[in-house]
Amino acid sequence: MHELSIAMSIAELAIREAQQAKALKINEIEIDVGDWSGVDYEALQFSLNAVLQSEEMLRHSKLIINRCKPMMHCKTCHHDFTPQAMYCKQCDSCGAETLELKQGRELSLKALVIED
Ligand SMILES: [Zn+2]
Repeated sequence: MHELSIAMSIAELAIREAQQAKALKINEIEIDVGDWSGVDYEALQFSLNAVLQSEEMLRHSKLIINRCKPMMHCKTCHHDFTPQAMYCKQCDSCGAETLELKQGRELSLKALVIED
């Protein structure tokens, strides 16, 4: 259960941040998940809901999961596009092989709305 351990570490991080801010409750938790992050989206969502229910601070939090589509950036012509596959090597505008993955692998806590 890879997704469960990810969900638990996201919840721990959220609680730690909220405690540092001296909050008593987390109203909203927002997470970015890239389509190429390697996690099973459905399983992660399920695990997160279960983990949130088990934590006092998170029990009433609204969970927002942003799915991030893969986005390639060409360093030659600065064109951004959605690659058809992970092994995409060529810019679909100028044909250069100077691509970098700009978005799509994220798996992180993006924002918290806390109540103090
Ligand atoms: Zn290009």
